[in-house]
Amino acid sequence: MARIVQKFGGTSVADVERIQAAALRVKAEVDAGNEVAVVVSAMAGVTNQLVGWAGGIGPRSDAPEYDVVVASGEQVTCGLMAMAIQALGIPARSFLGWQVPVRTDDAHGKARILKIETDELARRLATGEVAVVAGFQGIAESGRVTTLGRGGSDTSAVALAAALNADRCDIYTDVEGVYTSDPRIVAKARKLDRITYEEMLEMASLGAKVLQTRSVAMAMRYGVRVQVLSSFTDAPGTLVVDEGEIVEQQVVSGVTYSRDEAKVTLTQLQDRPGVAARLFGPLAEANINVDMIVQNVSVDGQTTGLTFTVTKQDLDRAVQVLEGAREELGFSGILADPNVVKVSVVGVGMRSHAGVAQRMFGALAEKGINIQVISTSEIKVSVLVPEEYTELALRTLHTAFDLDAE
Ligand code: ASP
Ligand code: MG
Repeated sequence: MARIVQKFGGTSVADVERIQAAALRVKAEVDAGNEVAVVVSAMAGVTNQLVGWAGGIGPRSDAPEYDVVVASGEQVTCGLMAMAIQALGIPARSFLGWQVPVRTDDAHGKARILKIETDELARRLATGEVAVVAGFQGIAESGRVTTLGRGGSDTSAVALAAALNADRCDIYTDVEGVYTSDPRIVAKARKLDRITYEEMLEMASLGAKVLQTRSVAMAMRYGVRVQVLSSFTDAPGTLVVDEGEIVEQQVVSGVTYSRDEAKVTLTQLQDRPGVAARLFGPLAEANINVDMIVQNVSVDGQTTGLTFTVTKQDLDRAVQVLEGAREELGFSGILADPNVVKVSVVGVGMRSHAGVAQRMFGALAEKGINIQVISTSEIKVSVLVPEEYTELALRTLHTAFDLDAE
């Protein structure tokens, strides 16, 4: 007997038929003798609509009321899911975040889970009842409903699995698992049987939207075995696990990309101590996240060029903030370029293999793709290239790192 958390995403509970199909997957686990807790998202598209309505009243709607509105999608699906499971002859009960309770801080709209009290749930699971928990929501100390940020029901599921000490957390979605690259672009992308937490964390934050980044960080921290799989097929999914559980480690496990990058270049910036601090300080104060950074060596000993990236959405604001500080920083020009993409190769195998960056740059050069900015970490190399090369760069690297399906 095992204890399993099954999480169903928006497309897996998109209508009553889909919910009934999901309930059959719950039944299969119950019939196998397992204890099952279920976490649900809102029906696909519903949260967007709720966010739209809340925004329609005014851009600054009261954050606690925003949460009351946007949390409501999950109330509908958890009730319907409990009914659908009951209809299969299995006792089931729904729980809203506050009923569990899932205790969070009071950062409405992006709350963090502090603690999940599981006594009541565990007691019910032990009697063979299925607990159906509304994802994405919790309760603050103030007693108000909170939500965890978009995509937060993945985090609800992983947190619940950790709190319940579950043997597995199955995340049902509309793709069959985690792929070596985006299958819509790279036709030869393969589904991975296993991927390490660290790689998954990089892939999620680099734009592979299978799991919310925070949920992966939490799974890694608490050692929750996560499986990503499709509720539309019976194909086995991808297991997210510790490095020790990977049998055949590739040097590179995935090639991923993010179009949400924009490039800012400052020309003839004064080359003296404190300039970088004075440059990035105001950007941080304006809540603008800077991702990649390169500074050129100074040729004349006086000035230098500096390039960095921000999200596309922040580009105009970043330029404004810098214009405001032009005098103080002493640079001659700002070049803003939103037509860039960040392409990355990820793999824990590169810790023990030299030459990954070289192989990457060589493959891109052979196709005439110019690299604008480079950044690396222990398990990833990222390059910024012109956006029109997205497809070519992904396919080229996928082949260069031997990831193509036969
Ligand atoms: N329904 C919420 C959203 O769309 C939470 C989730 O689906 O993970 O963001
Ligand atoms: Mg989701």
